[in-house]
Amino acid sequence: MIPFLNFKDLNFSHKKEIIRAISEVIDSSNYILGNGVKLFEQKFSHYCGVRETIGVGNGLDALTLIIRGYKEMGIFNEGDEILVPSNTYIASILSIIENRLKPVLVEPDIKTYTIDPLLLESRITNKTKAILTVHLYGQIGFSKEMKRAAKKYGLKIIEDCAQSHGAVYEGKKAGNLGDAAGFSFYPSKNLGALGDAGAVTTNDRKLAKIIRAIRNYGSYKKYYNEYKGVNSRLDELQAAVLLVKLKYLDQENKKRRAIAKEYRSKIKNPLLHVPSVIDEDTHVWHLFVLRTRQRDKFKKYLHSQGVETLIHYPIPPHKQKAFKEWNNQKYPVTEEIHKTVISLPLNPFMTLKQIAQVIFACNSYGK
Ligand SMILES: *Cc1c(COP(=O)(O)O)cnc(C)c1O
Repeated sequence: MIPFLNFKDLNFSHKKEIIRAISEVIDSSNYILGNGVKLFEQKFSHYCGVRETIGVGNGLDALTLIIRGYKEMGIFNEGDEILVPSNTYIASILSIIENRLKPVLVEPDIKTYTIDPLLLESRITNKTKAILTVHLYGQIGFSKEMKRAAKKYGLKIIEDCAQSHGAVYEGKKAGNLGDAAGFSFYPSKNLGALGDAGAVTTNDRKLAKIIRAIRNYGSYKKYYNEYKGVNSRLDELQAAVLLVKLKYLDQENKKRRAIAKEYRSKIKNPLLHVPSVIDEDTHVWHLFVLRTRQRDKFKKYLHSQGVETLIHYPIPPHKQKAFKEWNNQKYPVTEEIHKTVISLPLNPFMTLKQIAQVIFACNSYGK
């Protein structure tokens, strides 16, 4: 069976280097906000081309802390609205709710799975303060239209970069396209730690300074608290792992791209809709997501052919029990996406034989 993803495979080739890095942390006797976190923040800033990186506990916290920071600056207030794609993973939406702002769901473009820039203006009110765009599955969800709308209405653009480490738009990296960005380093992400980890990137020094305090009890100086902060620090062990893996990110994204190219050029089956790509050179393929009418049937068939698949995601946010207040709303594009999507195995450590087997299984379906 070709597994959808073994987390172990993502770390196997770096294991020796990771063990050495972890051992150095043990010997340093500095386990919280030490030199490793500082160094990772510098390297990641350099990688993304931004002024500031703040290491935090996870991706959800990264997004939540950005919104919290803008509240502390008096730029956002409770009850303000943030536009967010209706087909995103729940974390993007929760970061808004946690801050008592209001998420306004905007349908995606069915071809790209990212927020439809042409719908943005129709959803803007005098309460709208930001667009939280999600570079879903590894493809950039940023455009001239989005930039123009943000400028016209004075909105912040916040990027959810949890699935887009290393993706590029017009020469700039994800994390450097809007006003601030949240990254997750959950183990399965393109840049993954050995546990929970996340980061905020921004060019706004003032925002960065506030988030740096809030992630650590609202304090710059021990026992002096300027904000009602939280505890959401990137820890030294995860920073050490990320420093190793960051060196290989571009190389691994390149492999993902090569596999996606194989899939896209060789999967030829009228029953399957392969994903559309805006820019083949800069998509980082966190996930390879097909669409098909009879998804369960296709999933079972692939399983019988030794190919494990997953669904990202089976239930849209507005249909979740957690959002009863939205359950009667209609988002037809989103519902169509959630009914028909299915993700094929794709990771930088797949063998040529496995890739060929996935393609063969897809092409023999329904024949
Ligand atoms: C993974 C993910 C997150 C959340 O990251 P965590 O580190 O699990 O908190 C947020 N947004 C998207 C789109 C994700 O895929």
